[in-house]
Amino acid sequence: MLSLWNDVEAREFVGDLEQRVYTSRLLGRDPSLVLHGGGNTSVKSAYVNLFGRGEDLLYVKGSGWDLATIQAQGFSPTRLAPLVELSTLESLSDVQMANELRVAMIDAAAPSPSVEAILHAIIPYKFVDHTHADAVIALTNTPNGRERVEEVFGGEVLIVPYVMPGFKLVRLCAGLFPQLTDSTQGMILLKHGAFTFGQTARESYERMIALVSKAEAYLTRKVVPVSLPSAEADSAELRAELAAFRGQVSRVAGFPILMATHHDPQAVAFVSRDDLETAAARGPLTPDHSIRTKRLPQIGRDVAVYADDYRAYFEANAVRASAPLTMLDPAPRVVLDREWGMVTLGRSARDTGIVEDIYRHTMTVIEQAQALGGYEALPAADIFDVEYWDLEQAKLRAGGKPAPLQGEIALVTGAASGIGKACAEALLGRGAAVVALDINPSVETMLKRPDLLGIRCDVSDEAQLTAALEQTARRFGGLDVLVLNAGVFPPSTPIRDLKLSDWDKVMRINLDANLSLMREAYPLLKHAPRGGKVVIVASKNVPAPGPGAAAYSASKAALTQLGRVAALEWGGDGIRVNMVHPNAVFDTGIWTEEVLAARAKHYGLSVEDYKTNNVLKVEVTSRDIGALVADLCGATFSRTTGAQIPIDGGNDRVI
Ligand code: ZN
Repeated sequence: MLSLWNDVEAREFVGDLEQRVYTSRLLGRDPSLVLHGGGNTSVKSAYVNLFGRGEDLLYVKGSGWDLATIQAQGFSPTRLAPLVELSTLESLSDVQMANELRVAMIDAAAPSPSVEAILHAIIPYKFVDHTHADAVIALTNTPNGRERVEEVFGGEVLIVPYVMPGFKLVRLCAGLFPQLTDSTQGMILLKHGAFTFGQTARESYERMIALVSKAEAYLTRKVVPVSLPSAEADSAELRAELAAFRGQVSRVAGFPILMATHHDPQAVAFVSRDDLETAAARGPLTPDHSIRTKRLPQIGRDVAVYADDYRAYFEANAVRASAPLTMLDPAPRVVLDREWGMVTLGRSARDTGIVEDIYRHTMTVIEQAQALGGYEALPAADIFDVEYWDLEQAKLRAGGKPAPLQGEIALVTGAASGIGKACAEALLGRGAAVVALDINPSVETMLKRPDLLGIRCDVSDEAQLTAALEQTARRFGGLDVLVLNAGVFPPSTPIRDLKLSDWDKVMRINLDANLSLMREAYPLLKHAPRGGKVVIVASKNVPAPGPGAAAYSASKAALTQLGRVAALEWGGDGIRVNMVHPNAVFDTGIWTEEVLAARAKHYGLSVEDYKTNNVLKVEVTSRDIGALVADLCGATFSRTTGAQIPIDGGNDRVI
């Protein structure tokens, strides 16, 4: 592990607090040191209050801030004296401690101080850095962790036996501090992590890098790396199997959840271990990470399945106020399956990503610790304590109402532009994860967010469609919503000139591709936890065709009929199929300013009148269609299937 200290960068950060910001970010840059809000740092600094009196403050990392991105206002300014006095109490409950920390602040609007604030306060150095570095955990979560720490660091660290983080740890450390000497580089907390300290930000940071580097070097010497098997090819039934599993887990949870499957070399190597069950079921990684594993018999797969609870991790570190802490349920967070690999679950794509990060580090640590003689868990009673504490914290924090389609997965065709893009955005806006298909490669990069998967796909190619569904199942776990939007509108051609090859081309894209997609999506949709939804973007041309558009109108009419039959066939599976009939949506790619002006002139209208040439005299936009499509997938329409809904501002031929 290399120091990232850079003199030029560091000069930009002037003063104690700014220096604290700088090296905190350096720690946060390395996920093997600090992962997703784990770890905390502090600096002690003088301050003059309103009465002109000097006071010592502890600026300690506040709740909701991540070291990687922290700013000055992310540190809670807390009076040092009351914190030091608190450390002399015999005992202090977690609730009392949280209150005392808050009232010791000099800024009522600042975030709550880290739960480890009192420990920071009593460490007799200006700067204090604390991490749960992977290499330190791998070393200390072993049967003879203390001996290994002594072997690696000799007398340069203070070794703190394991106790629950909180006031007990403060008392234990306070009792050990008389042993600190000038040559002490830091503290190793068994089964927890490392503290370093110094008179400057750089000194404390460099000591952390040096300690963790020593632990890493030791692991490199002692742990023989396993050769990684290559990932296997995908199986044909895999996506239906994953969708069925996600459906079951969602039922256990009580709401739809996302599920990401990882079949990369690291995951495959881990799930292929002979000792998978014992290795993976060994309890929390650290009290803060709280990786709890257990079997889930109700899931009904005979291969190894474990549940992890990362709730405590979020709570202990207070990563963010909106963390998905309503998941106080028996649904798993991580599933290890010899065929599937590592599967991570969460209420949003961001959550499945965080669980993935945490479990990747867990796998590394378990592998290393197993090689050192066995990964050792914490006593069961402490796990209970952590969870109880978290539960109390969770009660203090009122959870917001989830978005209407939170945890659901939607696939939209023709999603790079126009109505398809508007549908994708509306679905994302209602909380769904979206798979966007389009023949235009810009779909792969149009929005960069974890809940959007853009796939370049020619919908008329069945192999590409099934590959896209495979990716959907692996990335998000199944399918709840299918929006059939992709289509072509050929140049106006009277029937007398209509070639069969042109007709066929329209049919292949507007009709046949949708049959293929519906057929292949059905095994996924039927496992949708709230029932599958299919929305077909048809056309006003179905109820009111126009001359010159025979192929288009016939294809959309046939597609509508296909949807009506699907509504009948799939109703028993709880899948709803509805059609929307837009008309005159002019904010799409084909309607350039010039085309619009030409068409308006053709009808002897102004562009404005041409756009609003309907009963309500309103313009119909892509956004309007997207909103209707997304609403059709929500609770309001949960009793509606086989419906055809015009969205055209009112058309006298349709009404
Ligand atoms: Zn900690």
